[in-house]
Amino acid sequence: MLDASLGARCVLSTTEMTTMALELRPNCEYCDRDLPPASKLARICTYECTFCADCVDNVLFNVCPNCGGGFTQRPIRPVNEWRPGLSLAKRPASTKRVSLSYELANIAAHSLRIRNFPPEER
Ligand SMILES: [Zn+2]
Ligand SMILES: [Zn+2]
Repeated sequence: MLDASLGARCVLSTTEMTTMALELRPNCEYCDRDLPPASKLARICTYECTFCADCVDNVLFNVCPNCGGGFTQRPIRPVNEWRPGLSLAKRPASTKRVSLSYELANIAAHSLRIRNFPPEER
């Protein structure tokens, strides 16, 4: 049953949008390669764990070492302020580099255990 008020709940003010913004982490948490905000190689899981496409495809096999979920391409935040308060300059990317706390063997075993399940069945 569709509620007529449902649509209204999805409308966010620009203040709410800026507080909810993705962190846009600066590096791959596995190989430490730089992933600037405009990078098309950045991949994220639902928790914003961030890796490069090479690591996701060839090392992690689409299994997040932290949560076990799959990845998608990280969207690119517009440089231009098309709406007031919403741009890369107004809400800059994070500069805090992140790295994994698991041993490489642990990550490999974790991926092997999970990778054959599609993300929607994990
Ligand atoms: Zn990487
Ligand atoms: Zn994750």
